[in-house]
Amino acid sequence: MIAVEEALALVLDNSFPLKETEIIPINQCLNRNLAKAVEAPIDLPSFRLSSMDGYALCLHQSNSYSIVYEVKAGDAANPSLKIGECVRIFTGAVVPDSADAVIMQEKTIRKEDQLTIETPVNKGQNIRLAGSQVQKGDFPLEKGQVLQASGLAFLKSLGISEVEVVRSPKVTIIITGNELMPSSEPLTRGKIYESNSILLQAALHQQGIENQLVSFAEDSLKATISALKKAFLSADVVLVSGGISVGDYDFVKQALKELEVKEIFYKVRQRPGKPLFFGKKDQGFVFALPGNPASTLSCFYVYVLPLIARLKGSKSDGLIRASIPLAHDFSSEEPRALFLKATVQNQNVSILDRQHSSMLVSFAKANALVYIPEQGVRLKKGALVETLLLPNTILT
Ligand code: AMP
Ligand code: MG
Repeated sequence: MIAVEEALALVLDNSFPLKETEIIPINQCLNRNLAKAVEAPIDLPSFRLSSMDGYALCLHQSNSYSIVYEVKAGDAANPSLKIGECVRIFTGAVVPDSADAVIMQEKTIRKEDQLTIETPVNKGQNIRLAGSQVQKGDFPLEKGQVLQASGLAFLKSLGISEVEVVRSPKVTIIITGNELMPSSEPLTRGKIYESNSILLQAALHQQGIENQLVSFAEDSLKATISALKKAFLSADVVLVSGGISVGDYDFVKQALKELEVKEIFYKVRQRPGKPLFFGKKDQGFVFALPGNPASTLSCFYVYVLPLIARLKGSKSDGLIRASIPLAHDFSSEEPRALFLKATVQNQNVSILDRQHSSMLVSFAKANALVYIPEQGVRLKKGALVETLLLPNTILT
């Protein structure tokens, strides 16, 4: 059994970006990571533009100007201004080469074609220079950058319509457990509704992993070996749910051994998720996740997510961690490290009720996990605790 920090370090040490890359359209790149830095093909903005609705002035000492022209957004006009002349201009329009500054309309008085300015104006005021965001030939986004809505839009604003991204990892989920039933059927005695497949699929989708397969294996060595064998044929990462504990009907550990999967670690001093297994088979990875749903998801967020992120080409170490004051006292005698479902709100963190590894009710409301190191703690309200922010940190 190893410590949480050791386990996470082993995951990161064994992670690498997938070698294969692909060039795909921007609109398919959400959550994907750049395989190389992107070079700006143009200046951004590509011309001097007005950042206000107002008047572009050819400056002189007096505060009155004659209005000689109008330039609106999209116009190509470049009127030539003499000293003391101005043009009516709007946000996003090209500032004529002969203008020195733009004054916002609220600070002027217009009488027909005469303009009086009410405040002093400095050269360059309210003008966004060509290349002031990014210059042609710059590399504004680095290799490994994950593309979010903002990144996609930024690339579009540079006129880029496709980019080279790291191949997305293929993940196979294997669900074990004879007690599991699909929610489409009425429950029968001794059975429960299966929920870890949607749990893992959704958590993977949130990371931009579309290439997913789900298979089901009954609790037998033969079925477990067969499902794993098939998964290793195509998956970069195999996630097994359940069957990794020490019960007589837990066959995953034995199946992994028989398939000569290299064990990187088995069992972590943590709650939930003690019987977590991490190993490698050729180029593929396997996590065997304890089947209790809150254990499965906790282990996913803490250990699987950093591996996936690194395979995708990111430099991330996993969930963002922050020291946040506790909203209440908290003490625990638990010798293992704890990952506690919690909510961060108003700059404090509250640990939720119903922490048992079988319970998703608290996880469904959580936006964070509070990490309590091994050996227990006695903490007062206001004490800082290490908090892992979940990918859905904004509360609804
Ligand atoms: P296991 O890790 O297989 O010993 O399972 C631990 C607990 O998690 C048991 O109570 C299982 O019924 C439950 N469990 C395992 N797999 C799932 C699943 N896919 N969906 C919901 N609960 C599960
Ligand atoms: Mg089981």
